[in-house]
Order: sequence, then structure tokens, then C-alpha cells
Amino acid sequence: MKIGISACLLGYEYRYDGSHRKNEELIKLLEKHELIPICPEISSGFSIPHDPIELKDGKAFMSNGADVSDKLMKGSLISYERIRDCDLLILKSKSPSCGYKKIYDGSFSGKLIDGNGMFTSICLENGLKVFTDDDIGSIKGYTDR
Ligand code: SF4
Repeated sequence: MKIGISACLLGYEYRYDGSHRKNEELIKLLEKHELIPICPEISSGFSIPHDPIELKDGKAFMSNGADVSDKLMKGSLISYERIRDCDLLILKSKSPSCGYKKIYDGSFSGKLIDGNGMFTSICLENGLKVFTDDDIGSIKGYTDR
């Protein structure tokens, strides 16, 4: 399978604070597949590190109050073009870009609400199958088919 995957799950130090979320179990599970790393925030041109971003009412804000909606949308569309023909996507949970089903609420207080990241929303609207790194069991079932 051709699988689009959040680059930070592969060990790229692309998170807002310069860290990664390398997931060895996931990498091992996917070793026979073609992986396409994407990072909508890097595609958007954000420097590393940068202030954290959260979504509020469909818009993206940095913790300093800056509205970065247009910038993040542009990068999300660039990343989407790279993975639009993938069989599935595996994205980093809770991210304002890559999150699926749960994201932070925009108050920068650690509170989660139902919702999807900006990039994830574009992918779902275009019919792509999405899992997160929290769905290892489901990913295994899907890729073993
Ligand atoms: S935008 Fe996505 S791929 Fe990039 S660091 Fe954040 S969660 Fe990882």
C-alpha cells in the first residue's frame, strides 16, 4: 500500500517545539509499505521552533494570538497534493493540522474537543481513509487485508 504519514511519527523533528513523535511500533508494522512523509506545518513555512497552534471556530491561531489560518491552509493543500493518491493516511493524533476526531479546543489549556485538524479535514472531504497513531490495532487489520 501507499501510505501518507505524519513525518513526526517517522522521527522528523518537525513539531512546533522541534521534537518528534517517532513511533517504532508503527514503523515496524508498516515496513513493507511505501510511506510518503508529509508535514502540513513545514509545507506552510513555519519555522522550528514556533509558537503552538490551535484551532478555534475553524480558524488557526498561534498562542501569541496571530491568525495563521491562511498560512496553514496553504500548507495543508500543498501536503494534500503529495498524498492524494494514497491508499490511507496515518496521522498524528490531536494536532491542529493532522489530528483526527479529537483536537485541542483553542484555549491552549490542554482541553480536547471533537474535531479534525485542518489538513485532516481536507483529506476526509476528498474521501481518504484516515487513522492516527492511536489506532495501531485498526491499522494492522486494514493493512493486513
Ligand atoms: S503538522 Fe503533522 S506532521 Fe507536522 S509536526 Fe505537526 S503533527 Fe507532525
